[in-house]
Amino acid sequence: MYQYAEVIIDLVSNAVDRPFHYRIPPEMQGEIKPGMRVSIPLGHRNYQGYILRLLEETDIDPLRDISAILDPVPLFTREQLALAHWLSIRFYCRLIDALHAMVPASFRKGKRPGDVKLIELAAGAFEADLKRAPSQKKVIDLLQQKGALERSELIRLGTNNQAIRSLEKKGLVRTVSYSPGYMEEKKEDKELPILNKPHHLREEQAICFDQVRDALDSLKAKKMLLHGITASGKTEIYLQSIACCLDKDRTAMIMVPEIALTPQMIDHFEGRFPGCVAVLHSRLSVAEKNRQWHMILSGKARVVLGARSAVFAPLHNLGLIIIDEEHETTYKQEEAPRYHTRDVAWWRARFNRAVLLLGSATPALESYYQALEGDSLLLNMKERVTPIQLPPVTVVDMRQELKEKHRLIFSRLLLEELKGVIERDEQALLFINRRGFAGFVLCRECGHVVRCPSCDVSLTLHSDRQVMCCHYCAHESAVPVTCPACRGTKIRYFSAGTQRVEEEVKKLYPQVPLIRMDRDTTASRQAHSQYYRQFREHRANILIGTQMIAKGFDFPDVTLVGVVAADTTLNLPDFRAPERTFQLLTQVAGRTSRGPLGGKVIVQTYHPTHHSILTAADHDYLAFYEAELESRRQLAYPPFSDLIRFLFSSPDEEAVFEAAGWFTNLLEPAAGEADILGPAPASLYRIKDHYRVQTILKGQKLSRLAPGIRKVIREYHNRKTPRPVRLAVDFNPQVVL
Ligand code: ADP
Ligand code: ZN
Repeated sequence: MYQYAEVIIDLVSNAVDRPFHYRIPPEMQGEIKPGMRVSIPLGHRNYQGYILRLLEETDIDPLRDISAILDPVPLFTREQLALAHWLSIRFYCRLIDALHAMVPASFRKGKRPGDVKLIELAAGAFEADLKRAPSQKKVIDLLQQKGALERSELIRLGTNNQAIRSLEKKGLVRTVSYSPGYMEEKKEDKELPILNKPHHLREEQAICFDQVRDALDSLKAKKMLLHGITASGKTEIYLQSIACCLDKDRTAMIMVPEIALTPQMIDHFEGRFPGCVAVLHSRLSVAEKNRQWHMILSGKARVVLGARSAVFAPLHNLGLIIIDEEHETTYKQEEAPRYHTRDVAWWRARFNRAVLLLGSATPALESYYQALEGDSLLLNMKERVTPIQLPPVTVVDMRQELKEKHRLIFSRLLLEELKGVIERDEQALLFINRRGFAGFVLCRECGHVVRCPSCDVSLTLHSDRQVMCCHYCAHESAVPVTCPACRGTKIRYFSAGTQRVEEEVKKLYPQVPLIRMDRDTTASRQAHSQYYRQFREHRANILIGTQMIAKGFDFPDVTLVGVVAADTTLNLPDFRAPERTFQLLTQVAGRTSRGPLGGKVIVQTYHPTHHSILTAADHDYLAFYEAELESRRQLAYPPFSDLIRFLFSSPDEEAVFEAAGWFTNLLEPAAGEADILGPAPASLYRIKDHYRVQTILKGQKLSRLAPGIRKVIREYHNRKTPRPVRLAVDFNPQVVL
């Protein structure tokens, strides 16, 4: 009988980021299991904690007793406990951060799916005179329209807590607990998904599918990369692979980027596997999330369709994990635990002897490299299902435009094509990636961008200090007055965003209806699908947007895609900039030529000979891969190395540099052969009044250094200092800004 237990305390604090030992009182022995939520004493208080392991003995003395078991069943599965442990080591986070990622917050507070609290109408609600209380009237109306709702849902729909409370006081509404069964029935009332039948696979598809099926048959952990151009029918392979996996009585998971998780996408999967798909993403209401989780826990959901965090869903007997658009940056979590979905999925595949299938038209360089090295199996699909050709792409040299005294942000070619689209009443997408921030310095005559001599990233202008600075290694140089390459004097900031483009179009065509989509105009989810519908119904000719419009927008009438400034991503001070640019251009180009009208793509750039742009224009992934891999090899960037980023931040500028310096000195002996870059100011040097300084460790197989690095981190946290500075550690960061 186990008499002791290892417990992690549910406090997000470095001080308690280690297991504590407790005695299991006799009456709890046999009841307590790993993964359970318990109450334990610490100091003068009781805290919540989770059982990690049961122990037969312990050296720790004196021991205190576990106070209480909080749930009858474990909150975490054994797999989740093991995964959390691995996450904390691989991604340098607190164990509690890793555990928090595994289950919804409401579960940790003891609200199992049984506890859904809804507000419903009470007798007399309709008779009540609420003429002078419009906000209360609104609550009643909503409840009448939609049935019982959660409080948070009601508030989200535009009412307020005060109105609800007044109604409660008057006895016109009441709070009731509902079982998950009720919640499911409520869902059943909704229209059923339209069933869709499997397609007969084309030859290329069949070859790929056979490989996946063989891998599933082998009952071994296998990693595969499906490289298929847009519209080659990858989704059909996913669907049939899932069906094959379910036939073997195993469960399956399909991950998609958050923005791709549209209602159409969900219908697609529910239509193929009716009644057994759970959908998980960040915008579900608490009740809906609980319902989805209940479906998973009860075993009813055998397929999980979700965005990043769904990778932790406690499916039993997992046989297949699919990651669609595997190159997307949103698969990297940017807060602790800073994991990459791909890595977590592969861990789970190994744990479950499952198949991991990565799919993309533009695989991440790392993934393709792995496949070529034989670490995963490469599957290829080179033909579109539909006979329509990929669109022709024309690259416009904006330096030439300028030389010929054409100074608009639209080139003459783009203007001409735009005019044609409007005259024929077709549709155009104008794309500009505004996520790039202004601040790099460009010569408008030769296209030269000032770069760091040893890091191959562009230098960023710090206008406050009037210097150009490398955000990887802290190299500094003076702001050039003349171009260092051509001696020209037309040096300028590069900045153009969606708003600027919108203004320019309005100047040219005040009468033509247009839509602008970026983070500012689509704060709510409704706005997103509303614009989508408007454009689909042809109520606008021009859609201007950021990368938001690069995905899933399949309109047959779009005959022109204009990339206003391809350089905004290319010049980001990040070694992945060329890769992002290639991916984005390929994706944007795929937005046209989807219907019988065909389509054209125009890419405006100051770097018409850059390999990202040329290979994207040729729709040639392999050529891009080879050129980019070579440049990564020369600079020893991933996949030829690992990076670890240590980011220090604080409102106190001096303290940040002091802390980063202190840490970096300590890191040196632990770094071995690896290079230490910095400390240097991060590209985004100041965010929300916090100064950010980073040190980057670069070297091969850095996980070997992990024990030493963790020791340094622990020492850093234990350091007594009057001005503590936050440290965020990121293993293989996707974005280093
Ligand atoms: P991808 O995911 O590779 O971009 P999709 O899966 O969206 O491509 O496929 C494009 C279209 O082709 C979809 O409408 C899909 O239903 C259809 N499709 C896929 N496979 C077949 C097939 N074997 N026969 C007929 N249509 C197919
Ligand atoms: Zn540098």
